[in-house]
Amino acid sequence: MTATVRFAPSPTGRLHAGNIRTALINALVARKEGGTFILRLDDTDRIRSTEEFARGIEEDVAWLGLDWSSLVRQSERIALYDAAVEKLKATGRLYPAYETPDELELKRKRQLARGKPPVYDRAALELTDAQKAAFEAEGRQPHWRFLLEQRDVVWDDLVRGRQHVDAGSLSDPVLLRADGTFLYTLPSVVDDIDLGVTHVIRGEDHVANTAPQIQLFEALGAKPPALGHHNLLVGADGQALSKRDRSLSIQGMREDGLEALAVVSYAATIGTSDPVAPYESLDALADTFEFGKLSRAPARFDPQELRLLNAKLLHGLPFGSVAGRLEALGVTGGEPFWNAVRGNLGVLSGAKDWWAVVNGPVEPRIEDSGFCAIAANLLPPEPWGEGTWGVWTAAVKTETGAKGAALFQPLRLALTGLEHGPELKQLLPMIGRERALSRLGGETA
Ligand code: GLU
Repeated sequence: MTATVRFAPSPTGRLHAGNIRTALINALVARKEGGTFILRLDDTDRIRSTEEFARGIEEDVAWLGLDWSSLVRQSERIALYDAAVEKLKATGRLYPAYETPDELELKRKRQLARGKPPVYDRAALELTDAQKAAFEAEGRQPHWRFLLEQRDVVWDDLVRGRQHVDAGSLSDPVLLRADGTFLYTLPSVVDDIDLGVTHVIRGEDHVANTAPQIQLFEALGAKPPALGHHNLLVGADGQALSKRDRSLSIQGMREDGLEALAVVSYAATIGTSDPVAPYESLDALADTFEFGKLSRAPARFDPQELRLLNAKLLHGLPFGSVAGRLEALGVTGGEPFWNAVRGNLGVLSGAKDWWAVVNGPVEPRIEDSGFCAIAANLLPPEPWGEGTWGVWTAAVKTETGAKGAALFQPLRLALTGLEHGPELKQLLPMIGRERALSRLGGETA
């Protein structure tokens, strides 16, 4: 069976760290099984959903490299949900209820005071036609509840194993509000049926929706798909992630210059039995992905750790995979330059700073001008290659008696203006004789 999966965010905000895992696991399952990955925008909440967020989500998912085969918007599929409502009404599984929020709250309080669970008492089922008509004459519009079958609902969760929920302990869920708008529960099931979704993979926060949704699949004449609920993310401090933290938004990560591959590698490996490591491609991630590797405990998402992973990924990237982006940054040093600096990068755009160190202008730091003048005089003639540094510093050592840090550090400070950086053996030929001479305070031609 090939998999059809979906990632179904609501366009009521931009994507953040917590969403990546859901999107990613779905995309990896599709890749692994050669299946279909659908991007579904759950935009039935017309007030909170915006076109701008919808576009932002598409941009974020595309940047992560999670290509979708189709995009659907719930707001364009209302006729399907209406048809499902008619079907449920016709089979007696959807009933009108007229309680106001205040009345429901009062019922809950009374139940709790009597030590009972606050489950909806189904009083609406007892209403006579005359009572319903009276409510409507009063101006009350009904909301509609799904009549649950009071039995054990069992599913083999792809992550959590066998789950049992006593549907008798649940309130009949409201599917349709009094204003005629849909809550998430029904449209999601109708779409999953209509689009042939084989695996519903989402965060653990949706476990409570599952038993009613399984009954909905059945009430609509469909077999429920496989269901998996992955662990959620917490911050480095173990606390819930804040949706307002910019470093946790995909947009923020992109603007900070992180690699999409680092972000997905990180999101896919935290909270699993695999080590946190950079992967070379989504296919490589898909190859190692298994539901059984996901931990049941929350996974820690630490932006600091992500930055380290990003650096690690860059250090291993071959020139070919970054050539175009380097050129766009105006960095034209080619492969030798990339190989020289990649080990010193936290983010790719840092290559620009090292390119400026090569081309200048550089503010040389000269503490001992006599030493630098001697070194300048000993610069070998061009052409220069990787051996030049060794030949030159050996000559400076012989002439001045300086060795180790006392030999190398003044040269680095003069040539780059910095205390640390890529190996000078590799940088020196790119800096070239004329610039080196000038930085050491020597006479240029
Ligand atoms: N729109 C829901 C959410 O963002 C989708 C849940 C589901 O995958 O079923 O949480």
